[in-house]
Amino acid sequence: MGDSKAFLTISRKEAGYRPVHERIGDFGEVEQTLNSHDRKEQAARCMDCGVPFCHWACPLGNKQPEWQDALYKGKWRDAYRILSETCDFPEFTGRICPALCEKSCVLKLSCDEPVTIRENEAAIVEAAFREGYISIINPKRNGKKVAVVGAGPAGLTVANRLNRKGYTVTIYDKAEAPGGLLRYGIPNFKLNKNIVSRRVRLLEAEGIQFKMNESIDLKKLPKGYDAYCLCMGAETPRDLPIPGRELKGIHFALEILSQQNRRSYRQQSYDPFHRELPRASALS
Ligand code: SF4
Repeated sequence: MGDSKAFLTISRKEAGYRPVHERIGDFGEVEQTLNSHDRKEQAARCMDCGVPFCHWACPLGNKQPEWQDALYKGKWRDAYRILSETCDFPEFTGRICPALCEKSCVLKLSCDEPVTIRENEAAIVEAAFREGYISIINPKRNGKKVAVVGAGPAGLTVANRLNRKGYTVTIYDKAEAPGGLLRYGIPNFKLNKNIVSRRVRLLEAEGIQFKMNESIDLKKLPKGYDAYCLCMGAETPRDLPIPGRELKGIHFALEILSQQNRRSYRQQSYDPFHRELPRASALS
């Protein structure tokens, strides 16, 4: 633990959003970043609780107190090493996770000023990319082949882990580009698609093969593999059986989001039905 009293003297400081006049001109990410000094100060606020509720609350089991301590001490490489032990893609979770860790942070429960865990996570991984701490790993192959169906977050994660254990992995997906919901569901202003592509390039360089525009029939799985991992996600939306549901112009969120994301990303399959929507309201 770096500074045992920092939580008493340093307040929570969020990076905040880009000014409105700037961000209405593009579809880019709206969240800003703190400078390194402020980021380290924010990490210093972690109290290294004896019972780290943040660690329990994190679906990945991230070891937040350990990497906050390394970050506070300016050991960015160590912080990334600890973070990447439990999190395959911190550049995604650091941007889009609802941060259950922060909801259970003792500084949230006691004074409503949790440690900026999610932002710190994003800062660590971006520093790792920037400083070259993330290198291409070439694992020794074990001769086994695995097909992963679905190139969303689950498919990418399982492919990454199997690849690092030496399996030869091929990912199949019906979409034009890998990422699933990361690419077609989450808008650019939360997660820029260049961030997704950057990770996909790394996975390719490490030996994972991507076969896109491939719709797989589960009764006829591609031949030549020792194992299959099905990671197609749940694409059936939950309907609302209420009066008026049958009216024209009511769409599920993903129908619109995927088209808008294709539009921002300039992919050919973009179907501009958004032009039908001069005015829209969202129910969520
Ligand atoms: S923000 Fe990171 S550490 Fe917190 S719950 Fe999400 S993945 Fe876990």
